[in-house]
Amino acid sequence: MNERGVREQVVDFARRLHARGWVANHDGNVSARAGTGRIIVTPTATSKAAVTLESLVTVDDAGERIAGASKPPGELGLHVTVYARRADVRAVVHAHPPAATALACAGSRLLEQAFLAEAVVSLGASIPTVPFAAPGRDACAALAPFLVEHDAVLLGNHGVLAWGVDVEQAYLRVELVEHLARIALEAERVGGVKPLPAASLPALLEARTKAGLGAAARGAGVATPGVARAAPTKAKAKAKVVACAPSPDAKVDIVAPGRSTPAPSGDLATIIREELARALRAR
Ligand SMILES: [Zn+2]
Repeated sequence: MNERGVREQVVDFARRLHARGWVANHDGNVSARAGTGRIIVTPTATSKAAVTLESLVTVDDAGERIAGASKPPGELGLHVTVYARRADVRAVVHAHPPAATALACAGSRLLEQAFLAEAVVSLGASIPTVPFAAPGRDACAALAPFLVEHDAVLLGNHGVLAWGVDVEQAYLRVELVEHLARIALEAERVGGVKPLPAASLPALLEARTKAGLGAAARGAGVATPGVARAAPTKAKAKAKVVACAPSPDAKVDIVAPGRSTPAPSGDLATIIREELARALRAR
């Protein structure tokens, strides 16, 4: 995608944050990498409903402004911290969606347990909460330890931060975190969520790795506590796996259970459910 396309995505998804009610006032920010040493970010002190192509700011990898009339947001350091530690990441989205932010403000650990199979494949077995730290250097230092293993976190007493290969993927990860938070809070009214059986997690995490997602797929070699470390898939040039949301860099074919050829497009949700069910039955 060229820089114009990247800038249009930043504007589009910034406005979506406002439309979804996930930001108020000047809250939230969206950034995307447009090339080496060029990160596009939404401006400070601007409603996300009012972000335009002209208002975007361009900063370098250290967060220093190199183009744009506006100033970058005060939370830019969080974005720069992600880019510095994750070479695969090309976009970061930050918002204050109400349900997830409620959990972050309450110090709830509800999202640190796995209770929906598809979410484990998409985001891993746990969505951790980064302990609150003063905005700026301290907040960036608090975030850093979570970047190798995770693609989305709650920020304590603050909101949600997610990252991905493009703005859409980072946005969808914020959406999933908010959706999980709403489900967990609804479940509290009827007795609370029941965690998935621990024995089901290795198969789900293996599906995640095969989809090109997570630390193991990147060869980062980070194991989830209590779960055997999955081998990196880089060595497999064309592994046939079932994928929910594969990285564009993942060299995989989408193959439905019982088929030997890639499935027709538009069928992924069904395939992943069938595959997860099959994996769970096999255990
Ligand atoms: Zn914020």
